[in-house]
Amino acid sequence: MGLLSLGKPLSWEETKKHAEHVRKHGIIQFINLYHQLKDRQDECLRWGDEVEYMIIKFEDEKEKVKVSLKAAEILKIMSEREEREGDKRASLWRPEFAAYMIEGTPGSPYGLVSNHSAILSHFNTVEENMRLRRHEVEQLLAKDEALLCLTSFPRLGCPGFCHPPAEPDPIHSATGSLFYPDDAIFGGHPRFKTLAQNIRTRRKRKVIINIPIFRDINTPDPFREHFNDEEAEASSRADHIYMDAMGFGMGCCCLQVTFQASNLEEARILYDQLTPLSPILMALSAASPIHRGYLSDRDCRWSVISQAVDDRTKEELGEEPLKNSKYRINKSRYDSIDSYISEAGSKYNDIQLIYNEEYYDQMIKEGIDPFLAKHVAHLFIRDPIIVYKEKLDQNDETESDHFENIQSTNWQTMRFKPPPPQSSIGWRVEFRPMEVQFTEFENAAYVVFIVLLTRLILTYRLNFLIPISKVDENMQEAQKRDAVLRCRYWFRKDIITQTSPPEACACVEATGCPSESNICDSENVNLDESCILMSVNEIINGKGSHFPGLVPLLRQYLVSIEIDAETHCTIQQYLNLIANRASGNVMTNAAWIRKYVREHEQYNKDSVVSDKIAYDLIKVINGITKGEIFCKELVGDSPFTRDRILRRPK
Ligand code: ADP
Ligand code: MG
Ligand code: MG
Repeated sequence: MGLLSLGKPLSWEETKKHAEHVRKHGIIQFINLYHQLKDRQDECLRWGDEVEYMIIKFEDEKEKVKVSLKAAEILKIMSEREEREGDKRASLWRPEFAAYMIEGTPGSPYGLVSNHSAILSHFNTVEENMRLRRHEVEQLLAKDEALLCLTSFPRLGCPGFCHPPAEPDPIHSATGSLFYPDDAIFGGHPRFKTLAQNIRTRRKRKVIINIPIFRDINTPDPFREHFNDEEAEASSRADHIYMDAMGFGMGCCCLQVTFQASNLEEARILYDQLTPLSPILMALSAASPIHRGYLSDRDCRWSVISQAVDDRTKEELGEEPLKNSKYRINKSRYDSIDSYISEAGSKYNDIQLIYNEEYYDQMIKEGIDPFLAKHVAHLFIRDPIIVYKEKLDQNDETESDHFENIQSTNWQTMRFKPPPPQSSIGWRVEFRPMEVQFTEFENAAYVVFIVLLTRLILTYRLNFLIPISKVDENMQEAQKRDAVLRCRYWFRKDIITQTSPPEACACVEATGCPSESNICDSENVNLDESCILMSVNEIINGKGSHFPGLVPLLRQYLVSIEIDAETHCTIQQYLNLIANRASGNVMTNAAWIRKYVREHEQYNKDSVVSDKIAYDLIKVINGITKGEIFCKELVGDSPFTRDRILRRPK
């Protein structure tokens, strides 16, 4: 998340009055940006990762682990350094929703001129940069604290989960939560508490999060918690873990990657082509099987966050007839994307897209193509949920805050980012579905894998498009327990065509890709027939002569370009990790966490993750993260990998 606007956020009542103003000017700002920048060309690939961290505190005498609410303290020091050192910083730090979270990015994006070896050598610095980032924060922590990449904190919302202690206050707090105190929301800036409060006020009730419980042999059947609270009794579902605050979702950590494309057209292609990969990468990076002290039947955080920031009214949800709200809306603000935006992709847009027709017409009149116009008009069905009084009047030629307001509170699997006005930044795409991993080695592997895939897609003009409704089906599958191994996903049969269907196929020949490149779609192929159900293993590692597999394709690609031996070796290790996760040779973080809990001597086989189990679990994760414990179940046992993981910061 970029630097936050400063100012005083308005209440929901006030925000609502300005909603139309923000949207109207947001659209004008987008149109202006489009006209100024539609022909912009950028020579170089630039890209950067975002890693979110939790600050953890161990209470060794009590054998308890807590989240430490000191992000603001650390960020204050980091922002002073940033002011002093400017772009010489190796890392940048930003606030996140929770008072125990911080987000780190490289000091400046990676990338160089489009000379392959120059670009690729950067892949060898990502992991070290991530290590430096952690080291920088570790210097500011107390002995009993740690900076960890945990997607979900196992006992978030359980009594006494934070330090300093804070009690939930259901009557006076921003969220009304029975479990999550306002003190656990980042307080260094009013944005986050206002977001939580305005979402709740807009929807006229607390957020409702229900995640299926993992059924173990002693888990009560049905599993039903009782709360001394009417709203919670009505909202919580049997056999589900119930949660009631934005922090349960936005207080989870994730791993994101942003790429700059050479121009608008390339950005559309990357946005569309990476979309079908988002559920696959989510399943492969699964890391969050525990919520509010219970093992859940899900491995990923996605649906938790999706429910945690769902600001839809009952009318928008379809629970009441439309009277005051304008649309029925089928998804939360935090969800998978609803449409592709390239011409080739648009043929696979098979779900009903809700969009603002007036803005759409306005953009069409201004010469924006229907695909991009629909995408933006779709984002703009939402109200702004945070508006700063000081930012209401803007110069629509030179500012884009109103556009960014709506854009940045549509938290989707992919984000299409136009260049900011008057900046050196180009058209970018952000890949957002992945969960964060324990170690730098793993995080770097996922980031490098996805950046390399973008190179592969553009070089070989690969085509991953499938009907967008199938991507949604995959999103549901991908969150399930052991989704990597147990589920199957719709995936394109023939990825080595350029624009099919319905145009004639354009097989890419002489690409160095395996010979299956000659299975082309015929002109009148049915959309649904373009894809088949495949396992993650088949998608990643290949399916005999039927499907080449992404990792083998990447290995071929690496052979075809010049890179230095060391970078080559690093990338091979990253690809091995991805390949091994896909095949089940090694476990996802989620599978490993679940196994650890189930094998713990104090686990009663009742889905409960007690204070003691959480303490022991996070102690081991801390050891793994710091390179004190080598866990081959997670990363395999190659000596190269072992050396990398055990290497401490220089
Ligand atoms: P967000 O929209 O997620 O808040 P930020 O603007 O904070 O995004 O940047 C997120 C990531 O984008 C960082 O990893 C950063 O290094 C990277 N980044 C910054 N500038 C560029 C650029 N010109 N091209 C590609 N990535 C960039
Ligand atoms: Mg973030
Ligand atoms: Mg981001």
